[in-house]
Amino acid sequence: MTKYVYFFGAGRAEGSSVMRNLLGGKGCELAEMTNLGIPVPPGFTITTQAWVHRQRAGRQWPEGLWDQIVEHLGRLEQVADARFGDRERPLLVSVRSGARVSMPGMMETILNLGLNDATVEGLAARTGNERFAWDCYRRFITMFASVVLDIRRDVFEEPLAALKSRLGLRTDAEIPAGELRKLVQTYHDEITARSGTPFPQDVREQLRLAVDSVFDSWFAKKATEYRRIHGVPEDWGTAVTIMTMVFGNLGDTSGTGVGFTRDPRTGEARFYAEFLPNAQGEDVVAGIRTPMPIEALRERMPAAYTELLEIAARLERHYKDMQDIEFTVQEGKLYLLQTRSGKRSARAAVKVAVDLEKEHVIDQHTAILRVRPPEVNEAIRPVFEERERTAAIADGRLLARGLPAAPGAAVGQVVFDPDRAVEWAKSGQQVILVRPETSPEDVAGMYASQGIVTSRGGRTSHAAVVAVGMGKACIVGAADLTIDEAHRVFTVGGRSVREGDVISVDGGTGEVILGAVSTVEGQLGDEFRELLGWADFYRRNGGLGVRANADTPADAERARAFGAEGIGLVRTEHMFFAPDRLPIVREMIMALDQPTRRSALERLRPVQRADFIGIFRAMDGLPVTIRLLDPPLHEFLPNWKEYKEMIEEKSRLEALGTNPEEQRRLGAMIEAVERLREANPMLGHRGCRLGITHPEIYGMQARAIIEAACTVAEQGVRVEPEIMIPLTGTVGEMKETFEQTRRVADGVIAEMGVHVKYLVGTMIEVPRAALIAQKIAEHAEFFSFGTNDLTQLAFGYSRDDVAKFLPKYLDMGLVPADPFSILDQEGVGELISLGIDRGRRRRPDLKIGICGEHGGEASSVEFCYKVGMNYVSCSPYLIPGARLAAAQARIRDRIAGGDDLR
Ligand code: PEP
Ligand code: MG
Repeated sequence: MTKYVYFFGAGRAEGSSVMRNLLGGKGCELAEMTNLGIPVPPGFTITTQAWVHRQRAGRQWPEGLWDQIVEHLGRLEQVADARFGDRERPLLVSVRSGARVSMPGMMETILNLGLNDATVEGLAARTGNERFAWDCYRRFITMFASVVLDIRRDVFEEPLAALKSRLGLRTDAEIPAGELRKLVQTYHDEITARSGTPFPQDVREQLRLAVDSVFDSWFAKKATEYRRIHGVPEDWGTAVTIMTMVFGNLGDTSGTGVGFTRDPRTGEARFYAEFLPNAQGEDVVAGIRTPMPIEALRERMPAAYTELLEIAARLERHYKDMQDIEFTVQEGKLYLLQTRSGKRSARAAVKVAVDLEKEHVIDQHTAILRVRPPEVNEAIRPVFEERERTAAIADGRLLARGLPAAPGAAVGQVVFDPDRAVEWAKSGQQVILVRPETSPEDVAGMYASQGIVTSRGGRTSHAAVVAVGMGKACIVGAADLTIDEAHRVFTVGGRSVREGDVISVDGGTGEVILGAVSTVEGQLGDEFRELLGWADFYRRNGGLGVRANADTPADAERARAFGAEGIGLVRTEHMFFAPDRLPIVREMIMALDQPTRRSALERLRPVQRADFIGIFRAMDGLPVTIRLLDPPLHEFLPNWKEYKEMIEEKSRLEALGTNPEEQRRLGAMIEAVERLREANPMLGHRGCRLGITHPEIYGMQARAIIEAACTVAEQGVRVEPEIMIPLTGTVGEMKETFEQTRRVADGVIAEMGVHVKYLVGTMIEVPRAALIAQKIAEHAEFFSFGTNDLTQLAFGYSRDDVAKFLPKYLDMGLVPADPFSILDQEGVGELISLGIDRGRRRRPDLKIGICGEHGGEASSVEFCYKVGMNYVSCSPYLIPGARLAAAQARIRDRIAGGDDLR
């Protein structure tokens, strides 16, 4: 018989940390803590395997599951010295979800289960606190009805609010027992009226229904959405933990709290926790009541406080990572209800990893593997430009200061509901979500926003924890804000801010500022340098190089500051789009004869040369790959809208019979737009096809590159240009452009008399080029995989039109991820592998890199490492992440190969 239930209690547990997949995160860590001798209320966990079997059987419980639950309930009764459903000594339990990975607040929990009209009296008698017992009962009915019977919570909350207002009370805790008793009767009546059957008095029936509902809460909309965002597989399912209740709401010597063993915003090594006296856990997590700093516990219950600190330190040493814990104190006695590795800001992730290494808790390569590559990129996230910020505050634009919950500066339009946040973000607007507090239903809206502001809740509230994990700027508890969701406005200090108004928020300082404040890049702090230094050490030892895609000297300098070891792609067309150059470029394109075209190109040459000089200087000593012109020429001409306006303007001038000069100019432009228009521009007259039909364009560029190289070389700059031909698909194209480029380049070197080494290579971005790479490599001296085009051409998905169907494909699971962001290893990756093998067959030392967007994405970087590329190249802002990802790939590979890295 399959074992579906695992016990923990009385100092011993059947499970442990290593059983995460079976027992879920919560279940396995409760077992682990029990084995460590940490005070945990006893209980048992139903496995994810039970969920899977039930799911496969169309929600039928697997054979033996109920019997095992009943058996373990018996064990629980023994250790808890209470009986389930007993009127004298009733055992009450919580029923909690818990997947393999933490999905905070996404699934259901039911507390105080086991109460009914009889046991509530037993609880009152045992605790000597009738008010408490009835309060537990009404909470339990509310939860049970909303989770199990699907009756909306407000059905229960409204009479509660009405009762408080009738009695003139502020808090629930003030309601007398007699009134709660009556309220429970109202609840019973509501349930009977709404569900057609009375509230179940049989406690086993309650338990069976609750377990079923917690199993089903895996499919709740918010949970499904969370899985989609975080890539959690649908078929994992959840475990269910049933645990003896402990009460934080038993009076002033009780309470509940959550805490982190280090500060999750900064990583600072101090216990960072909050405590709410006389409350149950749900009050804290839901942000219903704003908790107090942990010092409140120290003052009220010093012994429990000291014990908590000791346990926190122990857990951190045991798990070798920062922990996020939940605890309850019942009449002075401390219990741990959960521990897990804590979500943290990017900055904190780096600091915690580096500090733990320094404290000899983990070693260097573990520290490197601890940080997710996007996190180091996030850490160079923007902050407000200081002068503008000071000026805005001096101008009286500071609206409020809330609790800084997740760092980063963000600017956007205010929205008050998460659906609108999603909608506006889809149409390209930047939004800031402003809510009284957030709940798990808001996750998609939070994800779509640049930043989040709440008026209630503490630093461990839902908004704070989720925003930190998402890397969004977040301010919580901005209590000065009065939010009127119905009228879509918030007021603060007599001012009103409406939906659509722009605000700026700094999640590092808690400032909410009216209007836009410019942001500037964040800096790499000491811990970053240290971690990336270690990463470079592991990476360089046989791993991937990291270069940047950069088109200007300023970009090149930034890239170098972020650690780029060269430039893997200069898109020369970006230089053509600069406003002072576009008119010359257009003149060149529209020229009908060679001499006019050459004269325009001659004027472009010094400008291009100056750009290259700037880039070579910035990259002194490092390789620079410059790609010759790639886009079709019509991209430099007026677009469709401007074209229509030009036609209208020309007709207007013709009708008026004025300005013949302008009429001629417009006529020529219109003619050029029509002449160059293409049916399939992505497959049209672009890349090396341009260089072959217009050799004077590539000639000018090759000349400018080598002139620039010779000029700086004379000044002592070490320069190594790599001239790259785009969109090669046949060996003929390669041979022709290669020879043409060499002729010009060697000519310039001879003319200028400066010895400069250079290479001529190609992008591999047409599938055919990958397939005949051995022939291409007869000429090409290096390869760089242009995976943007290679993905486009391998899938046959237009890069420009993919948004029309890809979201639907992703929703339906027809593709696992956007292949333009995450390299499709199965298909595009196969072309890359083939291309590398065949290219190196002809030229064993062929230098190979990647310069599509994938070069900065961690899983794609790992793939590039595995297939033996020499480097990846990506946007300057992604360089730190790419350095880390490349190091991680190398470390994982060596660990898999059995290397001892110490
Ligand atoms: C590519 O296709 O991957 C590439 C880098 O070139 P571009 O994006 O400029 O087409
Ligand atoms: Mg391309």
